[in-house]
Amino acid sequence: MKRAYNFNAGPAALPLEVLQKAQEQFVEYGGAGMSIMEMSHRSALYENVNNETQALMRELFGIPDNYHVLFLQGGASQQFATIPMNLLRPGRPGAYVMTGNWAEKAIKEAKLIGETVVAASSESDSFKRIPSLSEIAVPDNAAYLHLTSNETIGGTQFAEYPTIGGNVPLIADMSSDILSRPVDISKFGLIYAGAQKNLGPSGVTVVIIRDDLAEESPKTIPAIFRYNTHTKNNSLYNTPPSFSVYMVNLVLNWIKEKGGVAQIEQYNRDKTNLIYDQIDQSGGFYKGFAHNDSRSVMNITFRIHNEELEKLFVKESEQQGFVGLKGHRDVGGLRASTYNAVPHESCKALAEFMADFQRRNG
Ligand code: PMP
Repeated sequence: MKRAYNFNAGPAALPLEVLQKAQEQFVEYGGAGMSIMEMSHRSALYENVNNETQALMRELFGIPDNYHVLFLQGGASQQFATIPMNLLRPGRPGAYVMTGNWAEKAIKEAKLIGETVVAASSESDSFKRIPSLSEIAVPDNAAYLHLTSNETIGGTQFAEYPTIGGNVPLIADMSSDILSRPVDISKFGLIYAGAQKNLGPSGVTVVIIRDDLAEESPKTIPAIFRYNTHTKNNSLYNTPPSFSVYMVNLVLNWIKEKGGVAQIEQYNRDKTNLIYDQIDQSGGFYKGFAHNDSRSVMNITFRIHNEELEKLFVKESEQQGFVGLKGHRDVGGLRASTYNAVPHESCKALAEFMADFQRRNG
């Protein structure tokens, strides 16, 4: 078997060890005579997986006791709607930092529910940068401030998060950088992420919510969309995506074995530097999309001056075992997604391919 150099944006590479462990346990889990997928979500075995996965999230991400960890469905896109449904109030707008496509989708849903305000935007710079913390203006009466921690399409990432005074909770979409670096969770009211980049397969969405925010869910919205339905039921209100949660459990154990999130961050920086260095040393042959201080450690976006060469780059890379290097259809160009599970070896191979491609076409 030859594993591809997988740079997919999501669903994305999973650790080989995790896939092998799942394979080992696929037909029978825990001596139950059945697969985890065939088991009741009310069984002691599954409940243990549910509880252990929450405990691992808490341990690895340093989540304080006054937060719940939820495993929901509907993807990060459903959270775009669920957040305003639960937290917007008349006279209390949702404030959004606009850094690209995903923030636009989030605010669009919120506008259907209530009032919104743009707290900062880098649209005039084609979303090539993250607004500086001093640019972010949050009204005192805001229900929350929402930001996209890592913009998967543009390849920009918050290097640090704003501290907001008063009573305004900070909410972050961490779909594409959760558990890639240590975070001070106590700065946030709510963090959410679809699993399919850094946590496991698609199908489960992790929500980390401060208890007081979960208590506020209005009774006028359907029970399934209320955060407090899920906090009260330990994410077992209805049938959970049990296999996905089990896979997240394996990925979290893998992170733990690697030494934890701080070690993962160093690993990620080292491997992505190989690619960013190649861009920076190319004398302009490759051009990074994001401003240097806003560069993402998860999604490396870049261009070649000539679109025909970009097409050739994608074609030849595929012939050499690379997958997923074509940029998002909305922005074009090239993108390498380098999530936690993407091996150093894949990044080294890509850096070498880039050097070779430039030698032949520069
Ligand atoms: N937010 C970000 C930052 C994303 O990258 C994505 C998926 N690429 C989404 C939200 C949407 O996630 P989902 O497909 O799980 O709804």
